[in-house]
Amino acid sequence: MVTIPAPQLGDSIHLSASSITTMTECPWEFWKKYCCADKPQDVSASLVFGSALHESLSLFYNQLRQSRTEPSLSELTDLFAAVIDAPRDVPIHFTKGETPDSLKKSAQALLRVFLQRGARPDHVLAVEQRITVALHNPISGKLLPEALLGTLDLLIETAGKISIVDHKTCARLDPDRTRSPDLQMSLYSWAVKQLLGVQSVDLSYQFLVRTKEPSVIVAPISRFDEEREERAALMQAASASFWIETALRAEQPELALPKRKSWRCSGCGYRSMCASQD
Ligand code: SF4
Repeated sequence: MVTIPAPQLGDSIHLSASSITTMTECPWEFWKKYCCADKPQDVSASLVFGSALHESLSLFYNQLRQSRTEPSLSELTDLFAAVIDAPRDVPIHFTKGETPDSLKKSAQALLRVFLQRGARPDHVLAVEQRITVALHNPISGKLLPEALLGTLDLLIETAGKISIVDHKTCARLDPDRTRSPDLQMSLYSWAVKQLLGVQSVDLSYQFLVRTKEPSVIVAPISRFDEEREERAALMQAASASFWIETALRAEQPELALPKRKSWRCSGCGYRSMCASQD
């Protein structure tokens, strides 16, 4: 029996794979989003689609774990629709041709394929499991002021081995994604080892591909040197922590954390605020 300790959430700033990536790609956006908690002007439809789909998959795997039965397509799509239609603080930013109904239609097609081909592990250990783990600098060993906060989509056990499965909604399948674990999966692998005291963890993605003919594919992520991958991820966390500390000490943190124009800008929830302060 595997038990994941309940997250200990204090007042300190937490780092997630997403916030570390934001800090790396645009420190100014990080400041607005995670330190000031400023409300974004909108949230992208693709992000809302992914979150709503996660809710449906969470229902599926929780039911599978508890009773080895499966929800119907209409139960999954009803939950998806409820998330899309739920009142929200910030509006959804739809791209051309997208509407709430088009998202629901696309989800229905994807969930139908999921019910045919989605992963059905024998032993589901946890679903949408929140975790926190203390972070440290892997070179100095010094504890960071921020803890890691994450959510494991699916934790399973196969032939005695622990495996993390992450659901990825995407517009096309990118084979490069499984060549090695990214920041998120490296951090999760390290965190699960700390929490469960295991030596090795398998990683895989369950891709939910939103093409005209939707597909659902489970693909293992190649691992060559777990320790090295996890160390690199911890270094990235330590670097984000350094910049947070630098900003908090600065008289004008917004000037200490630069804006970085990139592909992120078109979907960034702070783009108007950012442009008005150029
Ligand atoms: S619009 Fe671009 S530069 Fe400005 S905060 Fe967002 S990502 Fe950074």
